[in-house]
Amino acid sequence: MTMLLKGAPVRDVRADTLAQKIKNLTEKPTLAIIQVGKREDSTAYINAKKKFGNKIGATVLHVEFNEHETEEVVISKISELNADVSVHGIIVQIPLPPSLNKEKIIDTIAPEKDVDGLTSTSLKLLWENKKGFIPATTRGIATLLSHYGIEIQGKRVVVVGRSALVGKPTALYFTHQNSTVTVCHSKTLNLSEETKRADIIIVATGKPGLITKNHVAPHQVIVDVGINTVGGKLEEEVGERKIVGDVAFDEVKDLVRAITPVPGGVGVMTVLSLFENLLDAYDAQHAV
Ligand code: NAD
Repeated sequence: MTMLLKGAPVRDVRADTLAQKIKNLTEKPTLAIIQVGKREDSTAYINAKKKFGNKIGATVLHVEFNEHETEEVVISKISELNADVSVHGIIVQIPLPPSLNKEKIIDTIAPEKDVDGLTSTSLKLLWENKKGFIPATTRGIATLLSHYGIEIQGKRVVVVGRSALVGKPTALYFTHQNSTVTVCHSKTLNLSEETKRADIIIVATGKPGLITKNHVAPHQVIVDVGINTVGGKLEEEVGERKIVGDVAFDEVKDLVRAITPVPGGVGVMTVLSLFENLLDAYDAQHAV
């Protein structure tokens, strides 16, 4: 029978560990989230982070700018938060309005507070396999697989999607964990030929139903990172809104060894991992 790799049980156990740890700290770990504009999906993601932070006893500062704010003002706010010793982590909710230079803004975040792991310093550390912040989704996938006892060393991992946010850092991370990694993308010629060779398929494309029964084999573990809204608005928690992944779940679920559900799989792990990164940042800042 197929193993369902649910995120919630893992999140709950690890959230308790974080909450216990925070109870014993002298000050509350604090995360600042910068939002520029009012995209509804971004607000939903931020609300999920606030809710989780609140649950474990961390502080979440939501710093909001209107969509026409200048780069200088946003950068100046980040510099201020960099210098504020009561703030331990800073993230910029993406996407940003197209008028802003995303790389420049993210790179303003002090490396020791970069809990999303997206500054060029963090990415270089990941590239070099040195200690640093692993982007939350990648860390979440690794934690989830480890929790369910899924071996990654020596396994053939096919990552579908090559974004800077998910695909590339995940491919790098698994390479460093001694998986044999293939990266597929929108110009891959025969996707099913590639995916069928995998032991683990990690899909992050934003294309609902891209991975079908024709792409999978019985021994495989399928990690569906996609979060797509079908016919509604985005928020995992709200029942009427339909969220689907990049895998045609119903037709694939009985054909493979293990699969993550959407919602309730990687998404919940990403929020957990962000706060695990925040606690790591807090510890490092208090160790010096
Ligand atoms: P993106 O748009 O930046 O990148 C998509 C990637 O998919 C590209 O590299 C592209 O080459 C590839 N792709 C597109 N069509 C393809 C096709 N037909 N075949 C093969 N590859 C194809 O997206 P992203 O930011 O990486 O996000 C991907 C999905 O993951 C989205 O649904 C997003 O909402 C979701 N996401 C989920 C989490 C989470 O915590 N679960 C976190 C981040 C993103």
